[in-house]
Amino acid sequence: MTAKLIDGKAIAASVRAAVKEGVAAFTARTGVRPGLTVVLVGENPASQVYVRNKGKAATEAGFLSRQIDLPASTSEAELLNLVARLNADDTVHGILVQLPLPKQIDESKVIEAIDPAKDVDGFHPVNAGRLFTGGASFLPCTPYGILTMLDHEKVELKGKHAVVVGRSNIVGKPVAILLLSRHATVTICHSRTVDLPSVVRTGDVVVAAVGRAEMIRGSWIKPGAVVIDVGMNRNAAGKLCGDVAFDEATEVAGLISPVPGGVGPMTIAMLLQNTLEAASRRTAGR
Ligand code: NDP
Repeated sequence: MTAKLIDGKAIAASVRAAVKEGVAAFTARTGVRPGLTVVLVGENPASQVYVRNKGKAATEAGFLSRQIDLPASTSEAELLNLVARLNADDTVHGILVQLPLPKQIDESKVIEAIDPAKDVDGFHPVNAGRLFTGGASFLPCTPYGILTMLDHEKVELKGKHAVVVGRSNIVGKPVAILLLSRHATVTICHSRTVDLPSVVRTGDVVVAAVGRAEMIRGSWIKPGAVVIDVGMNRNAAGKLCGDVAFDEATEVAGLISPVPGGVGPMTIAMLLQNTLEAASRRTAGR
């Protein structure tokens, strides 16, 4: 068997096209362009690329896109001040502070300072809490993108066993909650899970969010399973690869997302979707 590929790039393009239409309609209705401000502290090269890509995508979709660059020496108080100003700025509907932050700044303090109504990354504890309790929240972009992919592929989750490998606050835990909300039976694995291959083998749906190149082997995959690879790693040859040994897994899985071209493009698309949603909620509340 060779698995069907999930084309994250194409699904992301369709989400972005829909957001672009939504932005145009919003602007025509309100006379205001929805705004996304991305804050970058320091010069981490990977962060610079992510921030540039986010800004470009936002501009293409018609948002008022702003990037604020601060030096690596920025103090926590200075960053918190900036966040307070952005919270109060009516032209800013979405705020994203790119992580990681330099070590003198407490990330959780900064995340908690962002107005939850502008928290388009979905990392604020209020939004995380609403995800748990089922209220309207901003979903973190990567888990939201994974769910959107699964929906696009019409994957039935009800009653299925979903195995999530990884328990971070930004991917593993929230994706597990989303799968649960769709009535999957969910197992969350981590570095202390005993006999990981056997657990993964029970998954009708497997989400790999570990950060270890090609760790999940084809022999771990249940025949016909849906495999979502979140990992973004470099293999020994320096090539971008996921957490799943793709060539092996495609021989066994029914449906699989590749790296690159899978979850990655979805993350930016959902950021745009959240920003449009933030702008729409704000004007609806007036
Ligand atoms: P974290 O490092 O925060 O979390 C990794 C998780 O994997 C932890 O829960 C850890 O367990 C678990 N883990 C580590 N080693 C093992 C092991 N040997 N066996 C089982 N579990 C293990 O990573 P993130 O969640 O932030 O990211 C995961 C991957 O996804 C990375 O490659 C990252 O680059 C990528 N990513 C991709 C995005 C995209 O847009 N495509 C967005 C975000 C992330 P424990 O908790 O016990 O330490």
